[in-house]
Amino acid sequence: MIAALMERELRPIHDKVRAGERITDEDALTLYASHDLNALGAIANVVRERKNGNVATYLLNRYINYANVCILSCQFCAFAAKKRDAHAFELAIPEIVETTRKALGQGITEIHMVGGLHPTLKAEWYLELLRSLKALDPNLHLKCFTAIEARHLADRIFKLPLQETLARLREAGLGSLTGGGAEIFDQAIRDRICRGKETAEEYLDVHRTWHRMGGRSTCTMLFGHIETMAQRVDHLRRLRGLQDETHGFTGFIPFAFVPEGTTRELREIRPTTGFDELRNLAVSRIYLDNFDHVTAYWVSMGLPLAQVALGYGVDDLHGTIMEEKIFHMAGAKTPQEQTVAALENAIREAGREPMQRDSHYNRIAPTFRAVPVEMAGVGELAGV
Ligand code: SF4
Repeated sequence: MIAALMERELRPIHDKVRAGERITDEDALTLYASHDLNALGAIANVVRERKNGNVATYLLNRYINYANVCILSCQFCAFAAKKRDAHAFELAIPEIVETTRKALGQGITEIHMVGGLHPTLKAEWYLELLRSLKALDPNLHLKCFTAIEARHLADRIFKLPLQETLARLREAGLGSLTGGGAEIFDQAIRDRICRGKETAEEYLDVHRTWHRMGGRSTCTMLFGHIETMAQRVDHLRRLRGLQDETHGFTGFIPFAFVPEGTTRELREIRPTTGFDELRNLAVSRIYLDNFDHVTAYWVSMGLPLAQVALGYGVDDLHGTIMEEKIFHMAGAKTPQEQTVAALENAIREAGREPMQRDSHYNRIAPTFRAVPVEMAGVGELAGV
């Protein structure tokens, strides 16, 4: 898009981005206030293509939720349960191993596993779980636990300093941390949607510690509930700040709040619109200049809109996932899984070049024909 066609207030931001300059919080608020969605997409595209060219990636992964029993009761969460609840579940290690074995047969490279803050599972249970999965295939990447779970494991289960807990988990097979639990960092919002949950600083400190140990992780934003645009910018600023410090985040994955299935107060909230989904992705892409990747999470936004997002700053469509519980228990109507064919077709149709990636967003190779037939043909809270 030619800058002259943009709203006047967007032109200086466009110029800054083209010159490789960082935008300010005020610029981000100007972008959020704009209705010129195509201009936002065009500006975001400058960053997206500078960093990733025309390639758009996806991952062959499987989600597993080992348990939904949780000591907290975040108001926005439809996933968690108390032990006495009818919808409470806890998987046994052999069951998780079997599910993983099958998924490996379908070509996955990553298990993505989160649960609630379980009150009684022992430290040894978590270690044995990781070891058992790693024993199936040493190359399988285990992306597990939100920062909130990691904090819980350290403080209440392992009863060890965070770094030592993370070191033990890594020794057992932990490959990277998931990004879930960030929600919106502003404490006033946390007090209303997830009272009692760890603070923004605690979330960031887990990632900081993990990054300093040489680990990598993703990070998230749960938007489209009661937060203001200024609170979204505050959230992005804190992520950008930590990334300046550690360079440990591989990608940013925002997802919209799903009101169905949450508390009565939150259920009244209007679901996020397609406009806001694309605007939020575009602004995030422009603001997070020190992040290499921005992912469109098809589980919450649907693959059709995630495909459109490839023109609004997004360079990654996440993964096959295969079984998602957290958003679907909250009322998401999207499918449970995507096939490689569906992801590749969506990317190609949008004019991008599909590439399979690993858990750290490294491109592996186009695998469409190499993937077993069942994967090609049939097709966390959220700890993404
Ligand atoms: S969002 Fe996570 S910590 Fe909060 S209630 Fe749900 S499972 Fe528990």
